[in-house]
Amino acid sequence: MSVRKVLTTPNRKLHLKSRRLTPSEIGSTKTKTIISDIYDTLRAGEYGVGMSAIQVGEPIAACVVMIRPTPNRPNLEHFDRVYFNPEIIKTFGTKVPMWEGCCSVLDDNGDPVYAEVPRYRKIKVRYYDESSCEHIEIVDGFLAHVLQHEVDHINGTIFTDLVPLSNTISLEEYRKKCQQNKP
Ligand SMILES: [Zn+2]
Repeated sequence: MSVRKVLTTPNRKLHLKSRRLTPSEIGSTKTKTIISDIYDTLRAGEYGVGMSAIQVGEPIAACVVMIRPTPNRPNLEHFDRVYFNPEIIKTFGTKVPMWEGCCSVLDDNGDPVYAEVPRYRKIKVRYYDESSCEHIEIVDGFLAHVLQHEVDHINGTIFTDLVPLSNTISLEEYRKKCQQNKP
């Protein structure tokens, strides 16, 4: 168990497409260690609500969603799940702009930057759990938003590939926006 260094842009690895895991790989000690390290790394930070394995340098299709109240989103309810080989198999409606940041995209002060990124409100996702059981679920709300961000990481896309860097704002500006608008 250890807190890993989170890869930050620019880093070629963040644009790799992660490899899908076989059921035996999902159950392996090596994978369990990576997942437990991702949990430790998320807990060590204040803002992250999700992290994919590639962000700690492991190009495997796995992510942890650990939604919790953060300084910017104090009203979030706790949610905790590991997703292996997650895929968005259906989307509903059209994309709408949603504010997000990323532990891998930091400014010169080492703080995350934020931008409005077009995301679906509702998606259908297929994934495997820690016992390699397949799940197909329709997801909406904040979880749907976080999953789209994490599945992008697994496919080698970071949110600043989707919006111009000039559209990003600093943590300080985002904090002010949260206090004014309560997004
Ligand atoms: Zn991210």
